[in-house]
Amino acid sequence: MRASPTGAAHRDGRRERSSRGVTMNAMKKVLVIGGGIAGPVAAVALRRAGIEATVYEARVEPRDHEGFFLNLASNGLRVLKALGIDVAERADGFPAPRMVMWSGTGKRLGEVANGLRLPDGTASTIVRRGALRRALREEAERRGVEVAFGKRLVSYEAFPGGVVARFEDGAEAGGDLLVGADGIHSRVRTAMDPAAPRPSYTGLISVGGYARLPGLAPTPETQHFVFGRRAFFGYLVREGGEVWWFANLSRPGEPSRAELSGVPAEEWRRRLLEVFSGDMDLIGEIIRATRGEIGAYPVHDIPTAPVWHAGPAVLVGDAVHATSPNSGQGASLAVEDALVLARCLRDLPEPERAFAAYERLRRERVERVVAYSRRIGQSKAVGNPLARWLRDAILPFALKRFASPDAHAWLYDYRVDWDERVA
Ligand SMILES: Cc1cc2nc3c(=O)[nH]c(=O)nc-3n(C[C@H](O)[C@H](O)[C@H](O)COP(=O)(O)OP(=O)(O)OC[C@H]3O[C@@H](n4cnc5c(N)ncnc54)[C@H](O)[C@@H]3O)c2cc1C
Repeated sequence: MRASPTGAAHRDGRRERSSRGVTMNAMKKVLVIGGGIAGPVAAVALRRAGIEATVYEARVEPRDHEGFFLNLASNGLRVLKALGIDVAERADGFPAPRMVMWSGTGKRLGEVANGLRLPDGTASTIVRRGALRRALREEAERRGVEVAFGKRLVSYEAFPGGVVARFEDGAEAGGDLLVGADGIHSRVRTAMDPAAPRPSYTGLISVGGYARLPGLAPTPETQHFVFGRRAFFGYLVREGGEVWWFANLSRPGEPSRAELSGVPAEEWRRRLLEVFSGDMDLIGEIIRATRGEIGAYPVHDIPTAPVWHAGPAVLVGDAVHATSPNSGQGASLAVEDALVLARCLRDLPEPERAFAAYERLRRERVERVVAYSRRIGQSKAVGNPLARWLRDAILPFALKRFASPDAHAWLYDYRVDWDERVA
């Protein structure tokens, strides 16, 4: 594939009036790098703004069964609904508006809301990651977006009025703009700013899997979290005793992803049983009943990235503000970015101004969420018995304060008014 840079350039600057009377660039072509969560949603939103987008994904083929599960918070679901995307059922979703907290000894510490219910009753939902990716990709394709696999970006070059992306297989693609949606280890980020911060290791690893415990009562609408003696455990139970679980373990010294994924499931079972010995028996039962793969990831975040855009290129999602999973917000922030960016490009035909408006509308919020998420992580693995005792004594009061959904309105009640023009 080789597109002509000049072909892209001469289209730049043409404008038309859309059916809604909004001035926008006609037939702008955007190269979206990364077909995870932010990428396909950005492509859908851009098309809605009248802008053509193609998604370039590094993986050679879709891996729709890869990865475990994640929380799609109500703010993210609100964005997807605004784009007419309904993923909950297609991603095997489990609505989970309640989070119940326990101490390792089995004392109920309290309950907090996971998001706000949307007007149609939709609540934050736990979905399978692979199925979510597939649903988002299919939605993009259904709207005419091409998703090209096996296209790992190695570099890009800006020239007056356009950009060329170069891929590992030797192919090139030309367009007017480039959106870096290539995740936490973004190549676009480092190409844009060689001094960009590297993802920062949070000191935790996340381990997770699926178990089956027939006879175990389902936990409708609820995820349970246990502040164990040495580590943190989360689980939910579906019909038929299917358990989705994860654990956060403190691990000083950053392990590589390869090191963690090289540990066999049997060894993870052994280690986890040791880590959670002395905590509530159910955790051990769930770990023993786990079948299949056990996944493990080092947890990183990017608290702040100085450069969000340069020339014709801009970053979205984890590529610019990866958050640790503790707040369950990474995917939701990524789709919020996508919608806000498309609005800015629709209303501000000069990309530099559109990107600056996008950064202005997003930076403060996402950095606040990343910091908040990091703080939650710090309470998860407390080794010192006195600190643990204090945490378990204080948490019930803190949770009471945060029990009301209003306490987290700043996080969940985020609205993007598509019809409002960006100034
Ligand atoms: C253990 C764990 C648990 C998590 N739990 C939650 C949760 O409960 N809730 C939540 O909201 N978030 C959670 N997250 C975070 C969430 O997964 C991310 O925030 C989200 O996936 C970000 O979407 P993205 O599209 O920006 O990046 P990604 O989903 O990472 O997608 C990036 C895509 O770009 C592709 N790519 C990479 N490099 C290139 C390249 N050079 N060229 C082309 N393509 C490239 C990748 O293959 C990938 O498909 C969790 C993360 C982890 C690690």
